[in-house]
Amino acid sequence: MANEILSYLNMCQREGLSLQRGMNFRAGGDYSIILMSRRANAPYRDRIEDDGATLVYEGHDEPARAGQADPKFMDQPRASFRGTLTENGRFEEAVRRYKANQSPPARVRVYEKIRDGIWSYNGLFHLVDSWVESDGRRNVFKFKLVAAVDDSLEDDKGTDDLDNSRVIPSSVKLEVWKRDGGRCVQCGATNNLHFDHIIPYARGGTSLRADNIQLLCARQTSQAE
Ligand SMILES: [Zn+2]
Repeated sequence: MANEILSYLNMCQREGLSLQRGMNFRAGGDYSIILMSRRANAPYRDRIEDDGATLVYEGHDEPARAGQADPKFMDQPRASFRGTLTENGRFEEAVRRYKANQSPPARVRVYEKIRDGIWSYNGLFHLVDSWVESDGRRNVFKFKLVAAVDDSLEDDKGTDDLDNSRVIPSSVKLEVWKRDGGRCVQCGATNNLHFDHIIPYARGGTSLRADNIQLLCARQTSQAE
């Protein structure tokens, strides 16, 4: 379920993978997985736009290698030194096929690090565009993803699709997490939590302010719903 809060272990168990990298093309078989972070010390510049319906995700550097220049000062590579596509190249190729009407948009599950050990599932997105731009010192990839209804998770059925297709800004998530003490506001549970819209998005409730978001466990749903 989108806006669900997970530990790193929960996230890896759900995906059946040890998620070590930020970009994981088709790691889930028919979908890809990306890990994002908008924390101040995050290594990449990921953005949320259009009131939470669009993500702009930065491509990734090659791992640092002894005897080579700092990857942060090198253009992000499309292919490795062996000539195989990097994750940047694989995501870019998926965009090319989509734009050429050769395949539907790639499906991407997005997880966001809120703080150490605390992750949030931002939902399923479609990969629709990519480009290369300068970050001021070198060229980086950018990938545009738009929110999609997640039909792959059983427990998404019957939930409010509009709420779940709006990413709550990272600063709001962190504020709510701290305010509610990492516990369900109704029963105090510390597991199976999610960020809940008090007034649903469809009824004019906002994702942009902490006073409309609360922590709830899976046993409770918002009284407004
Ligand atoms: Zn509860």
